[in-house]
Amino acid sequence: MIKFHPNKKMLTAFSAGELPLSLSIAVSAHIELCEECAQQAQQVEESLSHDTWHDESLENADFGDMLQSIMTTSFEPLETVVRAPHARVHIAGRDYQLPTAFRQYQDLKWSGFGAISRARIVNDEKNVRASLLHIGEGGRIPEHKHKGYELTLLLDGSFTDESGTYEKGDFILLDGDKSHSPYTEKGCLCYAVQDAPLHFMSGVSKVLNPLGNLIY
Ligand SMILES: [Zn+2]
Repeated sequence: MIKFHPNKKMLTAFSAGELPLSLSIAVSAHIELCEECAQQAQQVEESLSHDTWHDESLENADFGDMLQSIMTTSFEPLETVVRAPHARVHIAGRDYQLPTAFRQYQDLKWSGFGAISRARIVNDEKNVRASLLHIGEGGRIPEHKHKGYELTLLLDGSFTDESGTYEKGDFILLDGDKSHSPYTEKGCLCYAVQDAPLHFMSGVSKVLNPLGNLIY
């Protein structure tokens, strides 16, 4: 059961096409996994398009011909409907199906350090970096915080941090005040967006520097 969702402001910005690609991918993918937000986004879209068209443009249109042609069109059997292709990733010996928001990212290059693997998705939005992160069984990211924000969309598996346990579809937005150290027992795949490097609270820089560079 999904417990964390994008807020109304973010859903509205998404529906209006005002989010940068990094965040738009996250909201779009969440909506695919969350019926509740899918309905909300649809309502927002309807009210936005209502604002755009008002009513006169529709009242004056003659739909008679259009309806007639729709009614008399013979449709192909359902089997031939082509669905938007999903993206698949194969990482750490496992296959994952990703939401369609990721379908344009088919040839991902993975880098790894310990239990953590990363594939870059967005890298051209000023300081923002967006990646797929895979954390293998028993993997932990040492305690850290961010100068900016950290958005994590959990795409598969589950992980736990100081605030609780997260499941597939959870949309977790942290600002810079909170530190945490995510841990996964069985492994997880996330989409992560950050606008500043990780700041580790303690530990050996020989280990933390490459890890920080990998994640951000
Ligand atoms: Zn939701």
